Amino acid sequence: MKAEEQLEELAREISVCERCRLHASRKHAVPGEGPANADIMFIGEGPGFHENEQGRPFVGAAGKFLEELLASIGYQRDRVFICNVVKCRPPGNRDPLPDEIEACRAYLDRQIAAIHPKIIVTLGRYSMARFFGDAKISAIHGKAQLTDGRLLVAMFHPAAALHQPSLKRTVEEDFHTLPDLIKRASQMARAEPVSPPEKPKQLSLL
Ligand code: URA
Repeated sequence: MKAEEQLEELAREISVCERCRLHASRKHAVPGEGPANADIMFIGEGPGFHENEQGRPFVGAAGKFLEELLASIGYQRDRVFICNVVKCRPPGNRDPLPDEIEACRAYLDRQIAAIHPKIIVTLGRYSMARFFGDAKISAIHGKAQLTDGRLLVAMFHPAAALHQPSLKRTVEEDFHTLPDLIKRASQMARAEPVSPPEKPKQLSLL
């Protein structure tokens, strides 16, 4: 199946998913959106109020800031793939629970496998934990790690940055490292084909 078809199939499955309790309170599931051949994939935490209303990721205040950050490096949001660790809104925007993250794990794995992004940017701690274990965001943000032929970068969540001016500057600075990473990732991809994603084996700091 082509990557576009795999993503469409995933979106269909996610829209009727009942693997965890979050389906009971959702208005719309939010599978994620973006081109199947996106070089960069942004992974947030979970849908909030506006995302649940519209069935689209990052369409509220955090989304507006994400779009500004993308624009600052010359990208529009329709060039990148944007999704979340959990695909349905946790009620009242509470943190997703471990069993909810686990229930959604295979969907995220399949999205990554379909897209094969050159760079994965995690936004916030739940997304970071998925790739970086119990690392501290303050220690690793903005530093690319090479895993299975692709670059992983953890960043602060745009929503957190909106409320703290110092974090906002940090996220802006971290975003400005992306164009160089994109170049490096493209050079790597030309040198050797990117292998399918697995659990990180060994992380090496670039
Ligand atoms: N915050 C997230 O983590 N994801 C969204 O889609 C919106 C806000």
